[in-house]
Amino acid sequence: MPITCRKCRSANAEVYIPYARLSLCPKCFLDFYVRRVKRTIEDFSMFTEDLTVGVAISGGKDSAALLHALHHAYPNLRLVALHVNLGIPKYSAHCQGKVEELAKMLDVELHVFNLYKELKIRIGDFEKTIFKKKICSACGTIKRHIFEELARKTKVDVLATGHNLDDVAGIMFNNFLYGHWDQLIRLKPVLPPLMEGFAVKVKPLIRISENENLLYCLYADVSFREIGCPYSKGTSAKKRTKDFNNLSKNNPYFRHQVLNRFLELIPMLENIHPKTVLVKCQVCGFPSSGSICAFCKRVLLVKNTIDNDLVV
Ligand SMILES: [Zn+2]
Ligand SMILES: [Zn+2]
Repeated sequence: MPITCRKCRSANAEVYIPYARLSLCPKCFLDFYVRRVKRTIEDFSMFTEDLTVGVAISGGKDSAALLHALHHAYPNLRLVALHVNLGIPKYSAHCQGKVEELAKMLDVELHVFNLYKELKIRIGDFEKTIFKKKICSACGTIKRHIFEELARKTKVDVLATGHNLDDVAGIMFNNFLYGHWDQLIRLKPVLPPLMEGFAVKVKPLIRISENENLLYCLYADVSFREIGCPYSKGTSAKKRTKDFNNLSKNNPYFRHQVLNRFLELIPMLENIHPKTVLVKCQVCGFPSSGSICAFCKRVLLVKNTIDNDLVV
């Protein structure tokens, strides 16, 4: 016999939320999800409705669900969708297509930064550099910087990203294992602006699992990318996720527990861990821990490699 939805008590339940012990029908699941996102935003004072919120969207399910849910949770909020086209053959055009489709469906303003058009580099160019085996890490640095830049250009106050519970708890745990304390601190749900004129960064999906994002997209008819990034296959990040998943197998609360304990720990870590003094990057003027920021270093490295190739 089908189980009845615990909320409306009329439709058949299709989703079971283990940590809340709730069986829900698709409609009540969508309500549950949007309420949970709203609650997270309020609990961590992420933003108020008079501000402009930029959403970093990749074409993947997490950021797509985030943009869609914010649009429905706050109909009067000014939302701007931000996207980076990384110049990865087939993959990037596919992702941008999904992003354009979603922005059009929600009637949200979209700004795209095309890495090749703007900087004459593509993510694949890192294959010719010392980042050959760490393309995801180089790509992460590039994306973070460009999203900050897009946020500044489009004058958004708050930059929201689709980091989900699985991502955040997994990375927290890993940073803990390796003692990467400053990176652990960076996983806070709300990060103050790097410098004046920069956006506040928030993670409204920090309490929502990857699977819930997937279900949200399916039930809300949000289309997202169907192909994986060719560079993320078999990376150490994926392997670490597998180890972490093994730990959480028999405990539906595991990820929430990891998240909550680290959120308690971060203020203590901030007190004992000296803050990095930031200066302005000599090339781009962004806040940086050294005279040239990590983004500019990587872009220069790739450009030099490409130029040398041309000479040969
Ligand atoms: Zn229901
Ligand atoms: Zn720079």
